[in-house]
Amino acid sequence: MVGQKALYRSTYDQLTLLPGRDIFLINLQKQLECQLMVSPRLPLAVVFLDVDRFKLINQSFGHPLGDKVLRIFARRLAAVLPESAHLSRIGGDEFAFLLPVYDQSTVQKLLSHIQEDLSKPIAIAQHRLSISSSMGVVMVHSKPVPKPEELLRDAHTAMYRAKALNEYRYEIFATTMHEEAVQRLELESHLLRAFEQEEFLLHYQPIVCLKTRRILGFEALIRWYREDEGFVSPGQFIQVVEETGLIINLGQWIFREACRQLAVWQDRFQRQDLKMSVNLSRRQFLQADLVEQFAATLKALNLEGRHVQLEITESMIMRDIDKAENLMQRLKGLGLQLAIDDFGTGYSSLSYLHKFPTDTLKIDQSFVGQMDASRDDQEIVQTIVTLGQKLGMKLVAEGIETEIQVTLLRELGCELGQGYFFARPVGSDEATAILAASEGENS
Ligand code: C2E
Ligand code: MG
Ligand code: MG
Repeated sequence: MVGQKALYRSTYDQLTLLPGRDIFLINLQKQLECQLMVSPRLPLAVVFLDVDRFKLINQSFGHPLGDKVLRIFARRLAAVLPESAHLSRIGGDEFAFLLPVYDQSTVQKLLSHIQEDLSKPIAIAQHRLSISSSMGVVMVHSKPVPKPEELLRDAHTAMYRAKALNEYRYEIFATTMHEEAVQRLELESHLLRAFEQEEFLLHYQPIVCLKTRRILGFEALIRWYREDEGFVSPGQFIQVVEETGLIINLGQWIFREACRQLAVWQDRFQRQDLKMSVNLSRRQFLQADLVEQFAATLKALNLEGRHVQLEITESMIMRDIDKAENLMQRLKGLGLQLAIDDFGTGYSSLSYLHKFPTDTLKIDQSFVGQMDASRDDQEIVQTIVTLGQKLGMKLVAEGIETEIQVTLLRELGCELGQGYFFARPVGSDEATAILAASEGENS
């Protein structure tokens, strides 16, 4: 296998008849050596190109048609590039080439032109597909002379950036990108280790009745305790946890830990009939055995589902409405309560809401926070409250920071809330103390 791969790389590619990776690197090395000998320096840019969604093309139309797309792509590229570009096929759907230019605006013009040529529709299996590609560029001008492998690596990094966020689908490498890529990999490995070493914990923020100020329950919020930095908020890592798939294990742990804590509190503060709210991530929402896992946890803790609420966002539902509805029904089957988090920030149409078995709307903190100052935001909150009431849902206002907001919310008919005005999210000991104090008050 290794032998074959090496042979493939060092010889010409049979499919596109282009040189492979090794030959590209040798050619690049030669160009770099030429640069050294000539004054003024020869201009040079290295471009890495990757076909967008090629895997999908292969999966939908089969490999023979995938091969056809690659051949057409290679032919178009070869036609639009000069001979001196040393166009090569680096891997499956990846190509690299050189451009004899050194100012960014010329590179951009050239790449736009290439993109346009490449995106002309291709006829495959009775379809006409416009296939886009993403490109990363490194301008070669730094001294000391860079290594060919490093240039290719940096162009690859820039290509990924183009795929992720650039609507023009090309990106010129900046030195910070390499650092960012390294940092991102470091963060991924730290997160894995953090999970193994149990550095994650939950903080709890009270959800209160706005009228009586009584604590009805808590929202569990994940924190990562790092030795040198203290508590790290989810905004800084939850996306990476999702993208790496670690969320499947972490999400399971969060649910179990929040339920375990609830069982402890229910036992100690029996009169308070406490509830626990747990955030679900996008990825968990797609997890095949989610319902079974939750069922097992509830059973093991001897906990009734109705005491636990799952928070999901509008965008999670809107991605695939039928699937979401089905999953929500199954979660309801466990007795779990469902809340729509950050309500009002999504693009969803309001007409779908009654279709879903949701119990609670959480009004996004961006509206609540502006209520004292902005009539528009008050009106938005009023609309959400009216909507929730019509649908028989509970309403929780998030991010309450002032007494005025509490008063306004009560006037508008919102009964529940959470926010720094009542309490910040706190560790389990502190939350226990808050509960003990409130029990003392109420007895
Ligand atoms: P969220 O679910 O909307 O959580 C509310 C966020 O608002 C929390 O931020 C909370 O600390 C913050 N907050 C609460 N009261 C106030 C206030 O009065 N003012 C202001 N400015 N902020 C307030 P946090 O803990 O940083 O969490 C951010 C987001 O990360 C959460 O938004 C949620 O989407 C996600 N997240 C948190 N914990 C988990 C978790 O266990 N699993 C998953 N999947 N996501 C989580
Ligand atoms: Mg939430
Ligand atoms: Mg929220």
